[in-house]
Amino acid sequence: MDINFFATYQCNSRCMNCSIWKGEKNNNAGEKLGLEALESLFMSPLVQKTDLIGIAGGEPTIDPFFWKLLKAVPASKKITITTNGLKHEKLMEFLRGQSDRERFLVQVSIDGIKDLNDKIRGVSGGFQKAVDLLAQLKDINVQSDFFYHQSEKLSSDNGCIQIVFKISCRIQYKNGVLRRCI
Ligand code: SF4
Repeated sequence: MDINFFATYQCNSRCMNCSIWKGEKNNNAGEKLGLEALESLFMSPLVQKTDLIGIAGGEPTIDPFFWKLLKAVPASKKITITTNGLKHEKLMEFLRGQSDRERFLVQVSIDGIKDLNDKIRGVSGGFQKAVDLLAQLKDINVQSDFFYHQSEKLSSDNGCIQIVFKISCRIQYKNGVLRRCI
């Protein structure tokens, strides 16, 4: 059994296919669990049976709750982090400091090559940051993959096969995976 946390409904990206960044879900976000509450959650028998904790958002890394969660998750659990990679310095610093990096998987969102990605995701330079993050993760032996969205709303030809192939070539990346088509 896996458990997934949505660390925040806020996001620093501006994707065409998503309205989270418009703040529509922020009004009822409610109070978030503190570190103590999280630790006791992870002690509960049901949660102790889980193997994998997923953390996504919005963009999880921009919210203090994400960092609390990372502290609270027991060392025996695997952690999957889904990120747009726009602000990845703090995440890389955290991962570099981990002696058990094999329990982390970082999923990076990419929706096209270069300008097409940046147009779809609404942030100039976003493609380069995402690719940089994938390369840095590879350098420190943290598992990673990238996923992309396909829909008529985005582009009829943002080209999943092309994306997987080109990014794989760019960073000698062997694990490019088409995670999701919508
Ligand atoms: S990065 Fe993810 S959460 Fe943020 S706007 Fe894009 S699709 Fe939505």
